[in-house]
Amino acid sequence: MNIPFSDLRAHYHSTKMLIDEALHRVMESGHYILGSETERFENEFAGYLGCGYVAGCASGTEAIYLALAACEIGPGDEVLVVAHTAVPSISAISMTGATPVFVDIEPRSFVMDVNKLEDKITARTKAIVPVHLYGQMVDMDPLLTLASEHGLKVIEDVAQATGASYSGRKAGTLGDFGAFSFYPTKNLGAFGDGGAVSTNSAQSFEKLKKLRNYGQSKRYHHDVIGINSRLDELQAAMLTAQLPFLDGWNAQRLYIAKRYEEALKNIVAVPKQTETSTHVYHLYVIQTPRRDELQVYLAGRDIQTLIHYPIPAHLQEAYKYLGYTRGDLSVTEATANSILSLPIYPEMPETHVDIVIKAINEFFHSRNSDSTTTKQSVSLK
Ligand SMILES: *Cc1c(COP(=O)(O)O)cnc(C)c1O
Repeated sequence: MNIPFSDLRAHYHSTKMLIDEALHRVMESGHYILGSETERFENEFAGYLGCGYVAGCASGTEAIYLALAACEIGPGDEVLVVAHTAVPSISAISMTGATPVFVDIEPRSFVMDVNKLEDKITARTKAIVPVHLYGQMVDMDPLLTLASEHGLKVIEDVAQATGASYSGRKAGTLGDFGAFSFYPTKNLGAFGDGGAVSTNSAQSFEKLKKLRNYGQSKRYHHDVIGINSRLDELQAAMLTAQLPFLDGWNAQRLYIAKRYEEALKNIVAVPKQTETSTHVYHLYVIQTPRRDELQVYLAGRDIQTLIHYPIPAHLQEAYKYLGYTRGDLSVTEATANSILSLPIYPEMPETHVDIVIKAINEFFHSRNSDSTTTKQSVSLK
């Protein structure tokens, strides 16, 4: 595509010298798993977040799993989450044997509707997984109040919101745990898979370190049933090299988002920024009832767009067993039918932003455009 959704090669080139230096340093060290590089990244990332501890692991999915496992959540337990998310938010819950219970989302900010949480709490509920989707955080204060009233653990899914903050506190430091993904396209991305769990509890940190490493307290002494989920030295070194650039990259994402917002706010529904959270625009998601038509039109202009996500988790084949049907989560379902993610990444050339804006304007102002549906999209507010 002429206008790609993202460009990881451009991203590599933006810090190539530092990445290459880290790569060669680790290769020459002869130490590739759980060494000084992982520890250094864990310390620097904890410093960046302003939290007590970070434990590296192999992916965002396993970060959520490890946090749930550290809370001893398992079969018979219920965990509250949204269906409008990347499916790994849900599969991590299933991996523990617990049952995901879906809460609907807010219409324009796309995150969990905290007002709908309490109705879903039962005697079996053990935890909430707020997903900070697209780069914006769930309204955490009321969620944390509810969690403490009901004795629930809170595991933030920060995969899409690394660097975002809520009343001055960084995403991943408000709940009991924060789960991060360093999948290459994420705001802080590795060059392969990677993840991390943040916590303020020394005891939880020790537990996480055992769980990610076969349940070992020391070599060949297995205290708990663990898995293999480690952040390798190579990825850790490359993440350390990139961490100082994260805030700058997020600022570039915000700049592009503001350009889209200014240019598009009168023709489509643009994302709503909440008052409590900053937005780090992992994704820029617009809404229009003419979504499918618009996507085809943009593809015809060589502009790549994606849908995050076309089928909500509760309607996926794998989750049929939970017994949900169409209509159970009305905002989630309506959202899935109207959203479109536009290209956004820190290195995106300004000329590309201009081309995307121009094409969307032309689509809505072309002769066969129906002005009533255009208005309808704005009233999605
Ligand atoms: C990417 C992502 C995950 C999973 O992270 P991986 O590192 O790919 O396992 C989980 N939740 C959300 C919201 C994500 O976007």
